[in-house]
Amino acid sequence: MKDHLPDRLDLYAAAEAGRVIRGRIPLVSLTRVLPLTVSGEGELEVVLELGRGQEGTRYLAGSIKGMLELQCQRCLESMDYPLDVRFRLGLVQDPDDVQYLTDRYEPLIVTAEPALLAEVLADEVLLTLPIAPLHEDTGNCRGVTADYHAPDSAQRDNPFAVLEQLKQKL
Ligand SMILES: [Zn+2]
Repeated sequence: MKDHLPDRLDLYAAAEAGRVIRGRIPLVSLTRVLPLTVSGEGELEVVLELGRGQEGTRYLAGSIKGMLELQCQRCLESMDYPLDVRFRLGLVQDPDDVQYLTDRYEPLIVTAEPALLAEVLADEVLLTLPIAPLHEDTGNCRGVTADYHAPDSAQRDNPFAVLEQLKQKL
């Protein structure tokens, strides 16, 4: 049975205890990801494995899976984007300690405990999203058909106009 993730988690204590946490998180909880999606509906499946590596590093590893609906930047229609993020983060409290992490870990600077999991997960999702998502199958992309039109200059000059449109759809 899969439950919702806890909102907050004491990362260092969970790493000491070697906890494995599986759960779901609603997409709407990832507030910084939402402006990049067409729909905030749905949930992501999350697995978190916390522990202590051989070199003593406390780590947070895991995966995030689910389906996002992004806006194709060629035809501006929505497109399904399967999310499959894997990460391995070394916990550090002091930014100066990042240099001691081995290459096996990306740094996660833990500024407050218990940490807000939605913030940690949002960072990992944002790192993997394409800057300009495009339909892979051009058959689904209206951008290659006759009604293609280049974005007008008003849209180019004002990226917030697109965000406004998204908000209205939500
Ligand atoms: Zn398209």
